[in-house]
Amino acid sequence: MISRIDLRGTALPEGGDLRDLLPRAEFDVEAALETVRPICEDVRHRGSAAVIEWGEKFDGVRPETLRVPAAAITAALEELDPAVRAALEESIRRARLVHREQRRATHTTQVVPGGTVTEKWVPVERVGLYVPGGRSVYPSSVVMNVVPAQEAGVEGVAVASPPQKDFGGLPHPTILAACALLGVDEVYAAGGSQAVAMFAYGTADCLPVNLVTGPGNIYVAAAKRLLKGRIGIDAEAGPTEIAILADASADPVHVAADLISQAEHDPMAAAVLVTDSEELAAATEAELAAQVAVTKHVQDRIEPALAGRQSAIVLVDGIEDGLKVVDAYAAEHLEIQTADAAAVADRVRNAGAVFVGPYAPVSLGDYCAGSNHVLPTGGCACHSSGLSVQSFLRGIHIVDYTRDALAEVAHHVVTLAEAEDLPAHGAALKARFGWKVPQQ
Ligand code: NAD
Repeated sequence: MISRIDLRGTALPEGGDLRDLLPRAEFDVEAALETVRPICEDVRHRGSAAVIEWGEKFDGVRPETLRVPAAAITAALEELDPAVRAALEESIRRARLVHREQRRATHTTQVVPGGTVTEKWVPVERVGLYVPGGRSVYPSSVVMNVVPAQEAGVEGVAVASPPQKDFGGLPHPTILAACALLGVDEVYAAGGSQAVAMFAYGTADCLPVNLVTGPGNIYVAAAKRLLKGRIGIDAEAGPTEIAILADASADPVHVAADLISQAEHDPMAAAVLVTDSEELAAATEAELAAQVAVTKHVQDRIEPALAGRQSAIVLVDGIEDGLKVVDAYAAEHLEIQTADAAAVADRVRNAGAVFVGPYAPVSLGDYCAGSNHVLPTGGCACHSSGLSVQSFLRGIHIVDYTRDALAEVAHHVVTLAEAEDLPAHGAALKARFGWKVPQQ
């Protein structure tokens, strides 16, 4: 069901060469650009009508209105199962605790007497938050998008999620209910690249936004890449990934359950076990077979995800090599199930989120740890972070110098301007001092 990659007995190659030995999904966003380009152009020119028509084509239902009526959002909350409501409220409460602490304070540095630079953190004015709704629906992604945006102080928060056939072309009612719980009343029945284009260009129903965040499939990722520049985007968050670094102390029942939990998202999801224990590898293989036999979503997602080239059990000579492997892989989610897991976790450099020890499964982070589940995939964790309050803020530098403070440094500015052959830059200084460089 899952292949093995045996890296034992040889010195591991460095950097990119090691990455090339590791499993990874063929997630060709560049190729998908050709699919989404005409969709985005159509939305640009024909607006809401195009968004609705592409939704009808891909989601099999024509929403009556692109903007979800307020009454439908209220009704979804009223009809929400009380247990789901309680779980969502707890998820929101914990996410708020963590994200509130991420707020940035304005800071002023006095560079010299009379010369200050202040970094002021200003929220983005208006954001479009994408909540997937193709194979599964993700009310949890409403929480993970909306909470950091609200904690950052964003004023305009709009949510888009695909129209659902079974619900008359509205987004899934649990998604609407999650929006209601969070006080979000601007929701659109739009999915895929047409939703991203709607946010980027604006339509008669939806004002354009400054930033689009949220996970999604390859078409969502491609549209974000295509429209980046016109809009800001978060890191690309594509098909989910779990890597587990484990030694002989790990419980194969937990390891297998956690690998399956992420394979359940998507046939392109990746599940990777990195271990120095042949026994754990064999026991995990047996457990995978046993647990897959009694779970849901087997043929359409879990089996293809585990059997795909993106998933594997990687055997290494020890936890030191295991750390090199997981750093090269840069997983979206990384579990550490080794002896002294906290110390091992502390040494990880590349991961979207790290889950430490036997009682921090990725499923906890998906819903209720307080951490964010919108995380970089496809190796992007080596340069990008998951969604946070920071994703919705811009740091504006405010430069305030007196005449004396400027005079003190003017000769350096003029020298550097001349070194760059930009004499007008120097002239802007000289003009303030009778066309002379102040002498120090
Ligand atoms: P989705 O909402 O991302 O995509 C559904 C939309 O794709 C449809 O509305 C449709 O408009 C569009 N689409 C479908 N087929 C198309 C085609 N042939 N051409 C153009 N557009 C097309 O939902 P999904 O498909 O279930 O994907 C959700 C993804 O998000 C999963 O891969 C899941 O693993 C991932 N996810 C990632 C994170 C993270 O943080 N990385 C979190 C949650 C979910």
